[in-house]
This record gives sequence, structure tokens and C-alpha cells, in this order.
Amino acid sequence: AWARIRGRLREEVGEVEYRSWLRQMTLSAIEGEEAVILLPTRFLRDWVRNHYGDRLRSLWGAENLGVRRIDIRVAPESRSLEAAEAAPQADGLAGAAPVARAHQTTLPLAEPLSSPPRGPEPRVPESRNDWAAPLDPRFTFDSFVVGKPNEFAHACARRVAEKPASPGFNPLFLYGGVGLGKTHLMHAIAWAISFNGQRNVAYMSAEKFMYRFIAALRSQSTMEFKESLRSVDVLMIDDLQFLIGKDNTQEEFFHTFNALVDAGKQIVVSADKSPSDLSGLEDRLRTRLGCGMVADIHATTYELRISILQAKAQGAEVEVPPRVLEFLAHKITSNVRELEGALNRLIAHANLFGRPITLESAQEVLHDILRAHDRRVTIEEIQRKVAEHYNIRLTDMSSARRARNVARPRQVAMYLAKQLTSRSLPEIGRRFGNRDHTTVMHAVSRVAELMQSDSTFAEDVELLRRMLEN
Ligand code: ADP
Ligand code: MG
Repeated sequence: AWARIRGRLREEVGEVEYRSWLRQMTLSAIEGEEAVILLPTRFLRDWVRNHYGDRLRSLWGAENLGVRRIDIRVAPESRSLEAAEAAPQADGLAGAAPVARAHQTTLPLAEPLSSPPRGPEPRVPESRNDWAAPLDPRFTFDSFVVGKPNEFAHACARRVAEKPASPGFNPLFLYGGVGLGKTHLMHAIAWAISFNGQRNVAYMSAEKFMYRFIAALRSQSTMEFKESLRSVDVLMIDDLQFLIGKDNTQEEFFHTFNALVDAGKQIVVSADKSPSDLSGLEDRLRTRLGCGMVADIHATTYELRISILQAKAQGAEVEVPPRVLEFLAHKITSNVRELEGALNRLIAHANLFGRPITLESAQEVLHDILRAHDRRVTIEEIQRKVAEHYNIRLTDMSSARRARNVARPRQVAMYLAKQLTSRSLPEIGRRFGNRDHTTVMHAVSRVAELMQSDSTFAEDVELLRRMLEN
């Protein structure tokens, strides 16, 4: 039963969340009506209790073994385990609660670090140069193609690169979806600033920041950590959304942030959402992040995709016919990384076989990518189609209205989102007006039930599904 329950949860929340929070659950005992579940840290215990407690209870209930309550505890002997944990559990331990912070040196933080199961090995910075993370030599302003969707972000980035810490541009907050050029722009700023002069630039992902912070805590070198960070002139943190739920690292970042801004140093941050939409970040941090320049990179347009493809094809040894570029720009719309990947594959293929690139060969070589792309449906599309179909407003997909004529289509859209995309339940919930994952779960099972009992409804949903799949 336990294996089944875990399996269900894994399916429901998705692999990433499962690994982050749930993988380490063990079933310790079933005592009468109560199942005792253990987790290695207090942080994990609280997290699982708050986010998955109810779900665990109902899954146990469904097994009909008489279990009615769930007791989630910290495993008694997991102290040493804690230190060996990689993110995000490690963050929980790093602070373990405010009390722990005061006794940093005596708590398990100082335990020797065994190598984490994933992610880079945390290392404590020895000197400031250690912060100079390797920058991708291809990610410069020269190679960044500017178009409508990114011109504002690009202009801000240029400005910061020319005159770091000028009023109104500090911090610079860049945000946008995956593969739209955030990291590229950040590296471009870092290159330009280091090229221009003597400034000390520190660029790292938020994840790296966390690893280093935790490593410093463990090796009792937080002072060095703080000092080395505060001696930089420009601090750039990529993918800040990673710090959501990592409260201790967030707090450390907040202090670093304030110290640097007060000292007139430039901060550049990127994230997948705007500061106000980054729920899960502490309010005071969000407020400060939003008080400089906030620039978003929008989804690419056809024109921008064409320009990017032209720029990338220009240096290639083989010629890529305009028709092929147009075909790619039409077909691969999700992000620039995939677009680039497709083009590179065509070029590599042509080089390898010494054959010219044609529309036909492109279709053949990119067969799998194109197919995956055709099948991919976004949550927005689902919401739009479903709203249209039931003749309700698109905004009602995320509104709080509960009237049946609105709530039912919304449930259908959630159901289809679960069926047709690879999004996890919490993620789907967020896209439907920040609803809880249990609401999505409920919607999914409700629609499935109705489809069983009401064949007209079932046909309706099937029709929608087919429309979306094509
Ligand atoms: P993000 O950090 O937003 O997920 P990246 O900066 O890693 O995206 O960009 C993904 C890929 O697309 C990189 O190889 C990058 O060089 C390329 N790219 C994105 N936008 C542009 C652009 N406007 N011009 C040229 N290349 C771009
Ligand atoms: Mg990136």
C-alpha cells in the first residue's frame, strides 16, 4: 500500500517536486488508525505536513486499511543525514529554525560534508576571484538579437553595463519564460562590465548562491562568505525563483542585497516571473527587488525568431535556405533555445553527410522535435479554447467565481491541462488563479467521474481534447 501511495503522489506532484520533498519519506509504523511517516529534517517534516498532509491522509484512506490519521515526524537518528543532503532539504537544515541560527557552530551544520547526490559540489570561496563564475563566451551583446519582445530588457541591460548602479536601474530585475535570453543578457552585462574596467563582477545562479551559503555554514566560514560577497561591485543572481521556499538562503541574500545597494553597488537579478508574481519570496525582498528597474522579456514573435535564425545561420559553413528558416520560425515557437537546437542539428547533419539543407531534409531530420512540438499544448491555449467553447470569459478561468456555469468549464480546463501537458498539479493550480493543488486534483477526478456517468459531457470533453491536440 505504501509503495502505491508513494507512486500516486509522485504522479500527482511530478518528479521534481517529488524528489525535492517526498522522496525521503519512510513509513515507520502503523499504529492502530495512525500511520507514522518519518522525514529526516524538521524543515521537510513541516513542509510535507503543510503541503501534502491532507493528500497523504486521503490516499491512505483510499487503501481501506483502517488508517485514518497520519503522524508526520522527524526521524530520530537523522541528524547526520541532514548534513549530507543536497538542496532543498539542506536549506531547511541550514537554518533549522531561528534557534539553530544562534548556535550555528554546535549544530550539525558543522558536520563534514559528504558529497551531495546532485548538483555541483559546494565549495567555500577562498578569495573574491572565486566568485567570477565562468561566463559563456557566446553570450555577449553582439550576439544578442534585439526585437520588440526584448528591446526594453536589452536597453536596460546595456544601460546597466555602461553605468552600473545608476539611479533608477538598481536593482535591475529581468524576467521572462524559459529560454528567452535572460541568462544571455546577464552574461552580456558581466562581459561588458569586466571588459570596461576594474570592476569586480560576481555572477551566479541562485542555486549556486545557496550551495555556497550552506557550505559556508557547515565549514563555519560565514564571515568569509559574507565578506567576499560584499566586496564585489556587481552582484548578479540568475534564476532567483530557485530561492522560493529556501527561507534561510533568502534571508542571507536579502542582507547581502541591502549591504550592496547601500554601498552603491549594482545588483542584477533574473527570474521567471515579476517580483510581484514571485509568491513564496518574502515580501520585504520582493519589495526591494521591485524598486529599481523591472524589465520583462516577452515571448518571441515570428519576426524575432527569423532574425535570430538568420543571425545564427550566418556563420555556418553550410547554407540554410530562407524557406527552411521560415519553416523553423513557424514551427518552433516555444523558446529560443529549442529554435537554436533545431538549427544546429540541421547544420550538423548537413555537414556530416555533405548534403545541402532543404525543406524536405529539415522535416526529416527534425521529425521528432516537430512532432513533440505539434503535440504540445499550453495551459493558456486550453483555457482559451475551453472558455470559448463554453462561452465564458477567459478571466473566469482564474476568477474566484463558483457559479456552476463557470466552475464546470474551469474544471474541464484543469482536467485537460493535466491530461495534455506535463505540468504538475500545483503548477496547474497556480495558473488557474493560484488555486491549491488539491483543488486541481478534485477537478480532475470530478471530470473523470462525470465523463463516466454523462456521455454527452464525455463527448464534449473528448471533442475539446481533439481540438487542442491538433
Ligand atoms: P533563459 O536564461 O531565459 O532561460 P538563455 O539566456 O539561456 O534563456 O537563452 C537560451 C538560448 O537562446 C541561448 O543559447 C541564447 O544565446 C539564445 N537566445 C535567447 N535569446 C536570444 C536573442 N535575442 N538573440 C540571440 N540568442 C538568443
Ligand atoms: Mg537562464
